[in-house]
Amino acid sequence: MTGPVHAIVLGGSWAGMLAAHVLARHLETVTVVERDALPDGPHHRRGTPQARHGHILWSGGARIVEDLLPGTHDRLLAAGARRLRFHEDLVTLTSHGWQHRFPPRQYGLMCTRPLLDWTLRRQILANDRISLRQRTEAVELTGDAQRITGVRVRDTESGAYEVLAADLVVDCAGRGSRLRRWLTALGLPPVEEDVVDVGMAYASRLYRAPEGATALFPAVNVAADHRERKPGRFGVVYPQEDDQWMVTLSCTRGGELPTREEDFLPYARSLRDPLVADLISQVEPLTPVVASHLGINRRLYPERLERWPDGLLVLGDSLAVFNPIYGHGMSSAARGAEALDRALGGSFGPGAAHRVQREISAGADDPWIMAASKDIAFVNCRNQAKDPRLTGGAAARQHYSDMVAGRSIRSPEVCDVVTDVMAMTAPQSDLGSSEFMALMHRDKMRPDLTEPPLTQEEMDLVGLKPRH
Ligand SMILES: Cc1cc2nc3c(=O)[nH]c(=O)nc-3n(C[C@H](O)[C@H](O)[C@H](O)COP(=O)(O)OP(=O)(O)OC[C@H]3O[C@@H](n4cnc5c(N)ncnc54)[C@H](O)[C@@H]3O)c2cc1C
Repeated sequence: MTGPVHAIVLGGSWAGMLAAHVLARHLETVTVVERDALPDGPHHRRGTPQARHGHILWSGGARIVEDLLPGTHDRLLAAGARRLRFHEDLVTLTSHGWQHRFPPRQYGLMCTRPLLDWTLRRQILANDRISLRQRTEAVELTGDAQRITGVRVRDTESGAYEVLAADLVVDCAGRGSRLRRWLTALGLPPVEEDVVDVGMAYASRLYRAPEGATALFPAVNVAADHRERKPGRFGVVYPQEDDQWMVTLSCTRGGELPTREEDFLPYARSLRDPLVADLISQVEPLTPVVASHLGINRRLYPERLERWPDGLLVLGDSLAVFNPIYGHGMSSAARGAEALDRALGGSFGPGAAHRVQREISAGADDPWIMAASKDIAFVNCRNQAKDPRLTGGAAARQHYSDMVAGRSIRSPEVCDVVTDVMAMTAPQSDLGSSEFMALMHRDKMRPDLTEPPLTQEEMDLVGLKPRH
């Protein structure tokens, strides 16, 4: 055998579906093992609690998905998703002030997470090569430290155990993955791990948006300023399908998340600008407040193990999770799937898994360093990372990052470069290049904005009054 013939994917969410899709392009059969029953429509389920909070799919990830599954953008848009052009369709108070709405450069797809998942899942599971084992929990890997031969699973209804054999197992079980434990049980040394925990927590509600607002009113983002040296508070209003606004309020450790309905609006009013509160005070809430404490940055380094078993790969949140405020998790998983697709197109013989894992892991580096280096600037952040970029010279890096942030909101060309990096279409290293530094000095700065850059028509659409 020159390459794998049958693969098992653990987890049938975003990363698992994309992995199954690319595996089925190269292998004969793929089995997706999923603990939940997957709904037959865009509905919530237990295994993806984050789906109740606001999600954006940045253009970096969206383009990969469109390449892998042509027509996905149109399907999402037809189902009510919005394609937001950055920065024209976003009104954002950054840590350094209001962002000018420069002409669009990148985009993001916005809709509820169940719609995103369902749109992907229904296309991918239509493939005859892919079979789904739902209500089936992966409990351990089978094989040894040299080679993984399959997975032991448990039927969550009957409780019966079974071993499923595979040439390749791909762990996409998300942030709760037990991969580290499974590997040490097979006699491998512990996989190195970095954690940067700013204690991020989220509270979300859906609201009925004013007529026409989900298509014509910009998305809104009010961010904290880490320089205030107090717990950060954030709020967003995202347009969703079915004329709804997703309102997600969040905070870093100590920021007192509003988990009760009566606290939601006052908290929105306590943000650095009252825009989110002004918008939601006039519209009807459709759901209760749902809260989650899911904002850690954690990264595994499987590629650093001296030996890596053949027949095993890991991608998506199992490999790396990022503070969701930056919106990079799904795009990073899409990068992982793209790397897997590339690797399967070449030779995938014995010993290949370690090399391929290295390629998949490399795609997680940019979102990791972007999120972790921003989070360590907040008070109460617990930095347990050994990544040298997060342990030494932090003050100088923070100074540079503040300078870039301060320029990017007022200088159009600087903003373009920063937006490309943020959208995950350009490497983070672009922000340290000599060309970029020259641009920072050259690019003409617009004046500071003192209030949200909204047009009169936009304000009329949602019933906002002029502030002065
Ligand atoms: C509050 C919040 C907001 C976010 N916002 C954004 C955003 O705006 N943009 C963005 O790109 N990302 C965002 N993310 C991140 C994004 O949700 C994740 O990166 C993405 O869901 C990762 O997909 P995944 O498939 O790796 O993991 P998950 O989506 O977590 O899926 C894991 C799957 O594995 C299954 N599973 C778990 N254990 C087992 C087992 N033992 N056996 C079988 N099945 C198992 C689960 O049921 C689930 O289906 C956000 C995250 C949070 C928490």
